[in-house]
Amino acid sequence: MTFGVYVHIPYCVKKCPYCDFNSYGVGRRIPEKEYTEAVLREIDSYKESIEKLPLHSIFFGGGTPSLFSADSIGKIISKILETTLPLDSIEVSLEVNPKTADLEKLKALKDVGVNRMSVGVQSFSERKLKLLGRINTPDDSRRVLEDIIKAGFNNFNLDLMFGVSFETLEEWRTDLEKALEFNTNHISAYCLTIEDDTEFGALYSQGKLPLPDEDALIGMLTFTGDYLEQAGYRQYEISNFAKLGHECRHNLLYWRGEDYLGLGAGAHSHLDLNERSSWGVRWANLKNPDLYMRTVLEGKRPLAFTELLSKEEALQDKIMMGLRLGEGINLTSFKERFGAKWYSDSLSALFKQGFLELSDNSLLLTKKGILVSNELIMRVCDSLVYE
Ligand code: SF4
Repeated sequence: MTFGVYVHIPYCVKKCPYCDFNSYGVGRRIPEKEYTEAVLREIDSYKESIEKLPLHSIFFGGGTPSLFSADSIGKIISKILETTLPLDSIEVSLEVNPKTADLEKLKALKDVGVNRMSVGVQSFSERKLKLLGRINTPDDSRRVLEDIIKAGFNNFNLDLMFGVSFETLEEWRTDLEKALEFNTNHISAYCLTIEDDTEFGALYSQGKLPLPDEDALIGMLTFTGDYLEQAGYRQYEISNFAKLGHECRHNLLYWRGEDYLGLGAGAHSHLDLNERSSWGVRWANLKNPDLYMRTVLEGKRPLAFTELLSKEEALQDKIMMGLRLGEGINLTSFKERFGAKWYSDSLSALFKQGFLELSDNSLLLTKKGILVSNELIMRVCDSLVYE
């Protein structure tokens, strides 16, 4: 079993109108020192439970982790490394907003052990960035990408988004073309989704946010897969494309249902520290950063909830996550873990219609299946036969 640590930095300069992550727009007034101290204490609180776990990856996500200094990030990395059993080469990723890092900071982040950058570009179109309420401009993104290369990172991801109001396939194609100019080895291409508790959610429910129709979105999604495949990237997850060997190891942990410890406000964990359930345990931290810090600094666990998974929940998680992956779900290991042939004859229609396929003893979504993945994953879950 592989193990990784996620560190959540919940602060952003400004809240984007589409974002429902646990993030807070606070300008530059960030309680960096107190928050870092709380994360360090939280790591200490898990010392006995994680000191023998082999560490594969660390991921700083947010929010905007690049608002923190390299010094604070370095302290957290060092503490994690001395509290676990790191493997020889571990992946250490950090999410960067292009407006919040310069060459000097990027070099300093590299010096403290960050070896993979994930850049929230979203688009190279001024029009799209304005609609998305982003603080970064296309020039900010170009500059930070050039600085990342100058700082010596050869492993970096670009986050891009499509499906914005009045977006055409041509506009999206331009974004992809520009992304490839940086010779990145990883691209995440997400379709804009409208979440209820956001500014976009409110606008959409009032009919004030026009979006491309379903056919247009399917056109963009299909184009993305074909275009990036021709450029040498493999769609190893529904929204993630990488050159061979450059898949994000940390995100693979989530999709493969492996173990991770989440630190910081609102972070989720999937790890059975006390061997209480053969199907896994998950928990989440308190979302409010102030409450999180206060609770940890008082020497208490900042837990919002803990749940022991049942076999059915573990099985559904496996399907929901596993079918997102290009490698699919290996039927032999699935059978060993869950002890049953698990899909019923009702799935045969989905095979016949070309939405699912079997390859190398694994169950996969086809290219056609990826276009309707959410619906399909629900149908596969509904077709389970429990023994
Ligand atoms: S920068 Fe990222 S995390 Fe922060 S509000 Fe915008 S989308 Fe959300």
